[in-house]
Amino acid sequence: MSITVDDVLAARARIAGTIRATPVEPSPSLTERAGQPVNLKLEHHQRSGSFKLRGAANAILKLSDAEKARGVVAVSTGNHGRGVARAARENGVRAVVCMSRLVPRNKLDAIRAEGAEVVITGRSQDEAQVEADRLAAGGMVMIPPFDHADIIAGQATLGLEIVEAMPEVETVLVQLSGGGLIAGVALAAKARRPGVRVVGISMERGAAMHASLAAGHPVEVEEMPTLADSLGGGIGLRNRYTFRMVRDLVDEVVLLTEDEIAAGIRHAYFAERQIVEGSGAVGIAALLADKVRLAGPAMVVLSGGNIDMTLHHRVVSGETVDVAAAAA
Ligand SMILES: *Cc1c(COP(=O)(O)O)cnc(C)c1O
Repeated sequence: MSITVDDVLAARARIAGTIRATPVEPSPSLTERAGQPVNLKLEHHQRSGSFKLRGAANAILKLSDAEKARGVVAVSTGNHGRGVARAARENGVRAVVCMSRLVPRNKLDAIRAEGAEVVITGRSQDEAQVEADRLAAGGMVMIPPFDHADIIAGQATLGLEIVEAMPEVETVLVQLSGGGLIAGVALAAKARRPGVRVVGISMERGAAMHASLAAGHPVEVEEMPTLADSLGGGIGLRNRYTFRMVRDLVDEVVLLTEDEIAAGIRHAYFAERQIVEGSGAVGIAALLADKVRLAGPAMVVLSGGNIDMTLHHRVVSGETVDVAAAAA
């Protein structure tokens, strides 16, 4: 049941033709603020716009030929759907992504544009899940978003790239939602550099892993609209991998307000010239808010860039964007 560095090395070889090893760039502005060297891992330049392609590609490429022929299915409105769609298309596998009728048109189009068939059903993510389960019962292979050994091993390849690009790294700042990304990154980074500190960053609005760690077991939290929309959702009450891995491998977890996340998006744009979605900007935001103090060189992961450009424009223009009020 446990994932090893050999699994991660195998994943890296397997997905090399599908993913891009993303660049690392120094951040002079954050380096000056923090008084320590700060580098940015530009994973929002990953194909499909986020790291989710790594795990999806690893999970799909590990399937047998018979399974590949039956196709894959996922439930997602965002980056997981895009990653599964792209990984499947690049490897000649049929992909179906299920989502509810309430999902906005632009999100649906983005997943279709990556090559998936989209099935629209029901009025909630749970109802979309029912349809996906039906397709899986009919033979398609379900690709889960985070709580799966092949997904975690795929995301862990990002951790290898981080330590190779910055062997002296002392702190890694990583997004935390379901925990597939940070579990993988922490596993790989600590295997290569045992003393490295891994800090998880979530939003105050609906941080399911944070609440679960506090409770000592997976719990549900109320989902709320947030600028860090890719960090929403639960960890699953029957969580198999990520809860334990995060508990054992992540050194601390920090929560951010909506204003702090907005400041992260703005800083990424004006100081780093990067267009990053709210979830992608939380590492920068945590440093700006002084919620993470550095005692040595640091790497900040920018995990995704899929933000509605009208929303991005409003945020960088300095408008106070209240996504909760907009959704009400
Ligand atoms: C999915 C996602 C995350 C969170 O990843 P988990 O594995 O669920 O913790 C962070 N950033 C972006 C851009 C994502 O799409």
